[in-house]
Parts: sequence; structure tokens; C-alpha cells
Amino acid sequence: MRGIDLFGKIRFLDTTLRDGEQTPGVSLCMDEKLAIAQGLDSLGVDVIEAGSAMTSEGERLSIKAVADFGLKAEICSYVRALTADIDTALACDVDSVHLVVPVSDLHIECKLKSDRKSVINKAVQVTEYAKDHGLIVELSGEDASRADQDYLVSLYKAGIEAGADRLAFCDTVGVLVPEVTGDIFSRLSQLGVPISIHCHNDFGMATANTIAALRAGAAQAHVTVNGIGERAGNASLEEVVMTLESLYKINTGIKCQDIYQLSRLVSRMTGLPMAPNKSIVGENAFTHEAGIHVHGLLADTRTYEPIHPETVGRKRRIVLGKHAGRASVELALREFGLLATEQQLAQIVTRVKELGDKGKRVSDADLQTIADTVLSIQVEPKVKLQEVTVVAGNTVTPTASVKILLNGAMKLEAGTGVGPVDAAINAIRRAISDVADVRLEEYHVDAITGGTNALVEVWVTMAMADRKITARGAGADIIMASVEAVLEGINRLMRLEEEDKARCLKR
Ligand code: MN
Repeated sequence: MRGIDLFGKIRFLDTTLRDGEQTPGVSLCMDEKLAIAQGLDSLGVDVIEAGSAMTSEGERLSIKAVADFGLKAEICSYVRALTADIDTALACDVDSVHLVVPVSDLHIECKLKSDRKSVINKAVQVTEYAKDHGLIVELSGEDASRADQDYLVSLYKAGIEAGADRLAFCDTVGVLVPEVTGDIFSRLSQLGVPISIHCHNDFGMATANTIAALRAGAAQAHVTVNGIGERAGNASLEEVVMTLESLYKINTGIKCQDIYQLSRLVSRMTGLPMAPNKSIVGENAFTHEAGIHVHGLLADTRTYEPIHPETVGRKRRIVLGKHAGRASVELALREFGLLATEQQLAQIVTRVKELGDKGKRVSDADLQTIADTVLSIQVEPKVKLQEVTVVAGNTVTPTASVKILLNGAMKLEAGTGVGPVDAAINAIRRAISDVADVRLEEYHVDAITGGTNALVEVWVTMAMADRKITARGAGADIIMASVEAVLEGINRLMRLEEEDKARCLKR
């Protein structure tokens, strides 16, 4: 633990909106950038790199909107060593520029068709220009990890002379290892101004290298939410923050309990799903399959969890199947606030195993239904489907109308969507929107048998406030199977919310 706490507060520059947006296929509009920027600001990052001002008119409008929003964080634009880039950044009202100059001979000669001396001259000239116009300047070496380190130091020193406020070291193609990073930063942290570490994850080393740099005196880490970014991505905010917090016991000042919510927001807006096994924010990071581990978890959750899921705003999930044992079913029931006697528990386990033996995973809604039956809980569903009609085709906008009974009252609604399933689900969500704000977070279809008459199984993950559950629907009609799954999910979420309220009143 030597070193890391000697340098005061660690700062975070989040570049989800710049380097993260450079992920192939990702493009964020102004509203999306604003929503993510607000999330980052309330999470507590110090600097938000909102984009590259010279990219396009739309990008400039977005950056300006973020800059004018009155956030606490410093708002930054990426710029090249060109005065024209500084002018466009100034027009966006940003506080600072991330002024990036290539520093490896490979980049200077092959990409820039320039030479070392000219690069320094340009960096100095543009730094002075930016400082004259009142900007905070973070002078950044691109491909610094493959550069001649003596040359890099001479460029940094010239930049500091010219007024640069901070420096940044980019491991542009992710080739650092922690030992080398430590050595490099032991030297660079002596230059007299704060220096940032900017890591890419080509070898899966981005988090480790970022931590190594911080330990050796880096003052600021460049990160992105979910680790998104070009190729294999950037150092991930959630991994760097939680490593510092949980493994190094450093108070980062980041609101960790909001991490998951922001991760979901970024995933939705970028259209980039998380790998289930992604650290901290992946679906499986706090999910346990029934088995011997659940027995340990039941005794003490620390047995198989390095941190409490609540630390990052998540909930533990127990997935049941044919391996389900007494302990796992009991734990899953407990997560839903249900208690069963020994005898009832044995019955529930038998039914769960029966379902598992048919090759089925057991959804939260399945377990609830089984538990309701065994515990003889009579529950009238709050939302009942009366009618659904869907129109789709090559020349019509997919449209659905639904008639439902909501708490006994008739509701008629219509919705459109990108396809008939989307339209039907949108119509249902609109019909219940007065009483419940339910989000569909994941949707997954399996064809159980072959052919166009296949039986399909639809799995949905639905969320309301910070609760998330899974539900399932099956049948030969994909639209009806989807509607069934969504209604199951809605009914369960509404029931759980009601039970929460009842519990609060009792206290
Ligand atoms: Mn980068």
C-alpha cells in the first residue's frame, strides 16, 4: 500500500463522452450526452471530457450544452495542437482542453509526417494560445508508452514553461504493464504539475496499469463508464474506483452506490450491452447459481462475495435450476421477503427441481408462483389482459392496442414500436404508466423447437425503481409469449412494491 495515499485526493477525468463515444458504432445525441454528463457529475467525477469540438456541428452543440448546464465538474474538450481546434473549443464554452500531441516516433513520422522538434514547437505555441484565451490546459502525450521517454520529458517541460496546468500520459494501444508504469510515473510525477494516466485495455491491463500509475504519483485517472472505448476499451471507472475503495481502502469521493445506475444508463444510450461476466457491473457479478456456494452465502454473504452488491447500487440474485437446494431456494425467497416453514420449503424445492428437470431455468416470477401456491397466498394480479391487437406489415408502422384491467378498472391504450412485439409492450407500459414506471431492461427469445411453428420462450428483465426481476412467457406466438412475460414481470414488481409499503407502515 506504499505510495498511494501520499498524494492527496485522486482526481477522475471521465472520457465516456469522448473516448467512449469513439467505440465503433456508437454516436450519442445531445440529450444523451447531457443525461450521461449529469450522471457523471452527480457521481462526483472532477473533469468531464464532453467530446472533440472539431468533430462536427452536432458535437459542438452537445459540448456547449454540457458546458452551459452548470455542472460542478470541469468540462473539457479534446483538441489537437492546432489553434483552430482551440477556437472551436472556446466557442463551446468549455473550461479546459485535453491537448493531445503524438509523441512516439511512429506517430510523429508515420501519422503526422513531422519531426520531434516541430511537435514540441507546435505544442508550446498552442498551449500558449489556449492559456492566453483563459483555458485550463492538460497537455497530453499520445502513444507515450512507446515514445522515447527522454523526449517525452523534454516535451512536457516545454509545455509546463508555456503554461500547461496538467500533463497526461496516454497508453494509446494498451501495451503497458504495471511494473513499467510504476517506473515511468515515479519519474513523471516529479515534474511539478499534476499528471494523468490514460490507459487502454488491449491486454486487459488498463485497470492494473491505472492503479500502478496512481501508486507512483499520478494525480488523475482517465476512465470511462463500463470501460467503453476504441478496440478493447479504456480503463473502466467502476473497476478503478472500486479497486481503490475496496482493495486499497482509499476514499475516492465517488458516490459508489450510484455506479450501477450510471452503468445501465450508459449501456442503454450507447447500445453497448455488458458482458455478463464484466467486473462490478456485469449481470453475473452478484448472481449466484444454486449449489454449495449458496449454502455459504446463506451463512455469510462474504463467503462468496468480495463486496456487498449494495455498495455499487446492486442487488444479489440467486438463479435457480435443477441444482437448486434447500439453501438456495430459501435465500432466493428471503431476497423477496418471503418466509417458509421447513415443510413448505421442501415442497417449493421439489417443484423448482421439477421445472429444472424439464431443462428450464426458473425465473423470479416462476418461483413466486410456486411459493404462492405452496404458501397458499391468494393474489389477484393487478394487471389483467383483456384484449391485444397488433398490426404489422411492410407498409405500416407496427401498432398495438391493448385493453387491460388495472386494479379492476378498464384501460384502453395504443402504442407503436419498431416491430409488433415492441408495439405491444409499449402499449402495455403506457396503459399502466399512471401507477407504475416499469422499465424493460432485457429481452431475450429462445426457439425451443425448430421450424416456423416453433415454441418460443421469452425472457424479460424488468425494473421498477431499483428493483429488478426476471419473468418468462412461452408459446407458439412470439407476441403473446412476450406480452405474457411482460405482464408477469409488471404484476410481480407492483406486488413487491406494495409489500414494501406495507412493511414500512408496520414499522
Ligand atoms: Mn484513448
